[in-house]
Amino acid sequence: MSAVPLRNAKVAASGLRSVSVLGATGSIGDSTMDLLRASPERYQVEALTANTNVAGLAKLAKEFNARFVAVADPARLSELRAALAGSGIACGAGDGAIVEAAERPADWVMAAVAGAAGLKPALAAVDRGAHVALANKECLVCAGEFFMDRAAKAGATILPADSEHNALFQALASGNRDELTKVIITASGGPFRTWAAADIEQATLAQALKHPNWSMGQKITIDSASMMNKGLEVIEASWLFALSPDEIDVVVHPQSIIHGMVEFSDRSVVAQLGSPDMRTPIAHCLGWPDRIVGRAAPLDLAKIGTLTFEAPDYARFPGLKLAYDALRAGNGATTVYNAANEIAVAAFIAQRIRFGAIARLVEETLNSWIRAGNLAPLSCADDAIAIDHNARDMAAALLPQIAAKAS
Ligand code: NDP
Repeated sequence: MSAVPLRNAKVAASGLRSVSVLGATGSIGDSTMDLLRASPERYQVEALTANTNVAGLAKLAKEFNARFVAVADPARLSELRAALAGSGIACGAGDGAIVEAAERPADWVMAAVAGAAGLKPALAAVDRGAHVALANKECLVCAGEFFMDRAAKAGATILPADSEHNALFQALASGNRDELTKVIITASGGPFRTWAAADIEQATLAQALKHPNWSMGQKITIDSASMMNKGLEVIEASWLFALSPDEIDVVVHPQSIIHGMVEFSDRSVVAQLGSPDMRTPIAHCLGWPDRIVGRAAPLDLAKIGTLTFEAPDYARFPGLKLAYDALRAGNGATTVYNAANEIAVAAFIAQRIRFGAIARLVEETLNSWIRAGNLAPLSCADDAIAIDHNARDMAAALLPQIAAKAS
């Protein structure tokens, strides 16, 4: 049975729901805390976590009267203790403390730690059968099959929090899985949608960070500009909803009003719309299976006027095509795709490579990985973490030659 509930199994509205937010000080964390702040009568905060932002975490912990907080950086324990002095809030530090936060008995957990570090804590929440709102992409991109199997075995409920997947989750409630013919996820096209390839090649960091519609963290904003983010989302959709690559289409929709669509066998296409604001999909996950009051601006279609659509251009945005290649290759290739992209984005931020070289590094790493005979099935989280580490090393080793090569 799928861990993503494909029909809205309505249950009686529960009373107070206990929640934990992993990555509470980040962009998704901020949107989640904003929704919790608006409904104090519905939610009790069990645990909150951060990486290094002790001041932000302690402030949230006191405001929401959390029971436990954790920072990943072990050197910050005394600073955290001092910031919480007199509050009676328990705390911990280090990766183990983040996992401990996920293990605490919250009914609902937001998994919004950035990067591969989010995998173990999300698994800890999954293993105790919690409702897990999944924002972290790496859980699925690095270890999708294994993660979804483990969720199904533990009886966990995975609530897709990424806007496109949340849209598919909502649209899928209109039919049965065997009536689905394909899903369509939308892409804004990012800041370089209309740029010529030669200009994209030379784009600066400031230009890549100017997302036309969404306000997000730095890494995901750069991934949106390269359309690597859409590639990651294609991979996520595949694991969340057990879809083959051929069942997932991407359409460029610059207004970011339609987030995802499902086509059924009768050719009905069911779409989910909303203002581009992460608080809407998070509110859907937070209230599920009920609906709560949202915080995003209401959608005013008359004001928007026009919704447009374009086919993605794989020549100018090769990173999207590479995601399909990695998905088809399977056996850890999507983990390599993600790891190489993280190295490439960090190198671009450090001005070691041009924007256009991001996709070239990912492609070269994937090809070298496959040529070296490294494709192999993943059976545990440590397998995924080992592939992630090895692929990062390979990408870092390939970086100088990619940086030196002209496009
Ligand atoms: P941010 O960088 O804004 O926040 C990340 C959070 O994770 C912060 O709380 C950070 O703590 C914490 N963190 C970072 N590294 C570690 C670590 N090694 N161990 C433990 N905690 C850590 O990221 P976003 O909120 O933008 O994204 C979070 C996840 O959600 C990502 O996987 C992203 O791809 C995904 N996502 C984000 C969307 C968005 O709109 N932002 C949309 C859809 C998905 P600190 O503040 O101390 O650094």
